[in-house]
Formats: sequence, structure tokens, C-alpha cells
Amino acid sequence: MNGQLALGIDIGGTNVKIALVNGNGDVIARESVPTAPERGPEVLCKSVAETAKSMAQSAGVAWDDVQGAGVGIAAFLDVERGWVEESVNLHWFDVPLGELFTKELGKPVRVDNDANVAALGEVWLGAGQNANTALCVTLGTGVGGGIVIGGRIHRGVSTMAGEIGHIMVKNDGELCNCGHHGCLETLSSATALVRHGKAAGLSGANGDLDSKDIFDMAAAGNETAQAVIDEMIHWLAVGLSIGANLLNPDVIVIAGGVVNAGDALIEPLRAAFAKEALLRVSRVCKIVPATLGSQAGVLGAARLVLQEIQTI
Ligand SMILES: [Zn+2]
Repeated sequence: MNGQLALGIDIGGTNVKIALVNGNGDVIARESVPTAPERGPEVLCKSVAETAKSMAQSAGVAWDDVQGAGVGIAAFLDVERGWVEESVNLHWFDVPLGELFTKELGKPVRVDNDANVAALGEVWLGAGQNANTALCVTLGTGVGGGIVIGGRIHRGVSTMAGEIGHIMVKNDGELCNCGHHGCLETLSSATALVRHGKAAGLSGANGDLDSKDIFDMAAAGNETAQAVIDEMIHWLAVGLSIGANLLNPDVIVIAGGVVNAGDALIEPLRAAFAKEALLRVSRVCKIVPATLGSQAGVLGAARLVLQEIQTI
């Protein structure tokens, strides 16, 4: 285990995080390069590979000792082929990403979606450690989800498992990006929280509003802010209870900037979840904030390739 080394690569909209990680999850080196998606995937893979090789050299690691690379990307994928069918953020369509990275790195490469690798990272080294069945939910622009069962990502047949953000929780609710109405992410994402805060007449100190402002206002006694938060938490608990009744997880990890609100989010969420989920489901299920922050994806990506190489 200790002798293993892999690259984790997390392709975000702005930057690509790269980490050289050993089998214990220690980060030997880390770096980031601009994504610049308009230059195309070939240029990105080349630039990541150059950076990775120089990172290894600076860290005194022989390139031959790096066993593979895991890649996380916000995209619809064919995981088996390492194929990006569609990345809406990057405007990439039908990209053989795994093949391109293999060519540049000369290593086995595994590609998975960003929510899945982040979930794997949290289960490996973060808030979901040693979980039998973990549901990881990220509250951001949307609501992302990943399922890890027995330490491995559960993908379903077309890598769509865990799309908890698109569980329909409110009849006749707002239109979602996916084309349906009343999806969880129209009610409980960080974006939705802010949108509903603005609709309720809230505004931040400089005229703008973010989710932290809303939690700060509620903490200072603003009842409107508290009502907006309560509504968001209610729908989140409904969505989580559907996921939990289906999966019977021992842990639900909540990620995204909103978890900085701490107990003001997690405590009422636990209480609302206990009301919504089956008793025998809720009483064994911890709800905890993520602990790896923005590093979850890059660590999970490294883990992905390490565990798949082990089984070869
Ligand atoms: Zn949707």
C-alpha cells in the first residue's frame, strides 16, 4: 500500500488540480494549471502531463513509480471507455479523455465524474471514512451526489447513479436545468438558497447576497433569512430521506461552501431528516459535513485508479 503512487487530476471550470498521492492518501506534491477549455482537451492533457512529470521530478519520484492517474470531471461519461460524452461547463463533446491522458502520461487512466470522485475522496480520507454505504451530497450551483458502497463508487449502468439533485421533491415546483420541475436542486442548492433569499427581499452588505450572508442574518435574528433557510433544509431533508430510504446508508456527507454554516445547517437538517426518513433508516445514518473541502476530488481521483489497478 505505502509503495503505491498515483496522480489525482480534478478538472474544474477554471483550474485543474493535480496531486501526486501515495497509497495512504499522503499528498507528495500538488500543483494546479489553468483549464482554459477553449484550447481543447489535447492541449489540456499535454499541459497536465508536463506539470505532473515535473512535479514527480521535483519530489524525487521516478516517473516509472507512478502507477496511474485518476481524473474527475463534471461531465456525462462513458466510464468504461474514459469517454466524455458531454461536459456542459467546458463545452466539450465526445472527447476520448482517458485515451488522451494515457497517451500523454504513458499510464493507465480512469475517468469518472467530479461528484463521484469527491464522494470517494470523502469515504477514503474524509468525513465518510470506513462507511459501508455513503451518500455524499454537494450543495453548490446545483446539488451533486455520489454513492460509495463497500469503498467503491456505485455508478449504475450509465454513470447516472447518485443524481440526487434531480429527484423531484415538489410538485409543480420551479423549472430545473434538466427540464423537469421541482427537482431538489431548484430548492436546496446554494444558488437556490440565494435566489429565494433575494425573492424574499434579503440583500447582503454590499448589495449582493451569498449563502453565508443569509446564515449570518439568520444568526443575528433575521426571521426572513431563517425562514428561507428552514425551507431549504426542509426540502433537502425530503430529498435525503428518499435517497436514504433507498440506500440505507450509514453516513450522509454534506459538502459545498454552505457547510461552513456548521451546526446552523447540520443540526436542523438532522432533525428534519429524522422526521422524513424511515426510523430504522434515520437512526443508523449519521449526517456529517465534508472535511476535505476542495481537495476531495483530487484525492478521490487518485484513489480511483489505485483501487482499480489493485484488482488487475
Ligand atoms: Zn433537475
